[in-house]
Amino acid sequence: SVPLAFFAGIGNASRHGILFKDGAAIEALTQIKAAALDKTGTITHGVFDVQKIKTHNGFTENIILQLCAAVENASTHPLAVSIVRQAKEKTLKILPAVDVEEVPGKGVKAYVENKKVLCGNAVFMQDYDIQINDAAEKTAVYLAVDNKYAGCIILGDQIKDDAVSAIAGLKKQGISVAMLTGDSSEGAAAVADKTGIDMVHAKLLPDEKLSTMQKIRAEKGKILFVGDGINDAPVLANADVGAAMGSGADAAIEAADVVFMTSRVDAIPYALRLAKTTRAIAV
Ligand code: ADP
Ligand code: MG
Repeated sequence: SVPLAFFAGIGNASRHGILFKDGAAIEALTQIKAAALDKTGTITHGVFDVQKIKTHNGFTENIILQLCAAVENASTHPLAVSIVRQAKEKTLKILPAVDVEEVPGKGVKAYVENKKVLCGNAVFMQDYDIQINDAAEKTAVYLAVDNKYAGCIILGDQIKDDAVSAIAGLKKQGISVAMLTGDSSEGAAAVADKTGIDMVHAKLLPDEKLSTMQKIRAEKGKILFVGDGINDAPVLANADVGAAMGSGADAAIEAADVVFMTSRVDAIPYALRLAKTTRAIAV
């Protein structure tokens, strides 16, 4: 599938890497009152490095990384891709995983060398009654092997350079800005504080992202949602305008009305201003 083939650029917009699916998307952009932004991959780069590995029950750092990489190899989630990359950089062998089951917004379960391996967030561990014997951290991927807690990988992501000015630019245009993320409250709050976003919704499962977007729309009016993940596709499809980052998943791009090919945050205030001037000229 070539989802980008559905998009057309118009003059100035395409020169700035902004592609519209149709003219209605431009018109709809002029009516926007609120913007809801996904965090990982939208406000941040979505490329994580491993900061720390915490070990338990006799598991070593390398075994934790190797088992996580084995199950995450089946996932396209930014955390999964980053964990597999780090394992390969350490020249760890990526072990085969079978019966792989990815639970969106939670993690991955699979069998590796006949052991049941769970790799995901705190909610995922809770679902399987795994006790996490570690303090909550910003972005942690927890590992359980045969129902025993093995440890966790603490990962760090970077906020995009233009995020602070882009969000200030949106507010200046009178747009209410919210963050919708599946990440932990700690991870969400850290990014929101640094970027000046005061409406933060964390720990959202994919369907809760959609209902939260709809709640904001009911309160504030026409809404633009910007995301990049597979889990963002239903929200992109249901927002008044859905915008996907060019670096995002195919499913996100397919569901979107607008694509920001540069994957920059400042494409958002730019597109809103551009839509208004385009209409002013047309009228
Ligand atoms: P976001 O909305 O921030 O882009 P997602 O909804 O994709 O995040 O994921 C929410 C959370 O679910 C992640 O922060 C992570 O804790 C967990 N998660 C989702 N997929 C995976 C995975 N493949 N491996 C580990 N954790 C995952
Ligand atoms: Mg994302």
